[in-house]
Amino acid sequence: MPEGHTLHRVARDHGRLFVGAPLVASSPQGRFADDARRLSGREVDRVEAFGKHLFYHWAPKGRSKRSDVLHIHLGLYGKFRLHRTRNQGAWPEPRGAVRLRIEGERAAFDLNGPNRCELLDPEGYQRQLGRLGPDPLRPDADPERAWRRISRSRAPIGALLMNQEVLAGVGNIYRCEALHLLGIHPERAGREVDRAEFDALWASLAELMAVGVKHNRIIIADPADVGKPRGRMTRDERLRVYKKPHCPDCGGAIQQWELAARKVFACPECQE
Ligand SMILES: [Zn+2]
Repeated sequence: MPEGHTLHRVARDHGRLFVGAPLVASSPQGRFADDARRLSGREVDRVEAFGKHLFYHWAPKGRSKRSDVLHIHLGLYGKFRLHRTRNQGAWPEPRGAVRLRIEGERAAFDLNGPNRCELLDPEGYQRQLGRLGPDPLRPDADPERAWRRISRSRAPIGALLMNQEVLAGVGNIYRCEALHLLGIHPERAGREVDRAEFDALWASLAELMAVGVKHNRIIIADPADVGKPRGRMTRDERLRVYKKPHCPDCGGAIQQWELAARKVFACPECQE
């Protein structure tokens, strides 16, 4: 499943390509046909990411004052396919079960297999936001909300970081890598994480995920350690502990086990 940086990158790219001109919406697969008709011909005012969720804010049409929010959650199988070039005036044919196609002047996209693709009214939008913890990539995020949950919980910090109600946007790779950078063992209870550690964890996630948005991939390694800029690192060089056999700091064996339904990777020597 994509982590938060992917959705923030999509929000940024789609904001640049699709905001400010009327769009054509359709559902080649048919499952979103009525809602697509409702949106077609209207403009998107802004595209917003919150954790792993995307929200397209559609301008009201005609006399209606109601704005619609298109909520997309990719889940495990959802995929966007972006089209930048027309072929003899037409966008490429839809491939597979395309739930939603959006066509603008300069670009189009197809959405296949999303976990959620639905229209929300303003109340539904607020309800959805209310289910999400603070997102380290958002300037309006309030880390205190995450700290209150974590500092009172007996659950392992490695599980709390994956809980989107505690912190939104963090997935398995960021969880493993941030905890290793800070020397915190994934099984340590939330309430055993002290305030300074939490602050460092939040700052580290915000920084790492911002790098992820910029490069459109997860890059944990320090360019100074690798000896090359982030943009030129190989896939193997970008990560430090996720799916690695040895700890980059002590050389010991990395352990792996299931935690919150995903495989966590940690160094038993460097993390406590
Ligand atoms: Zn180690």
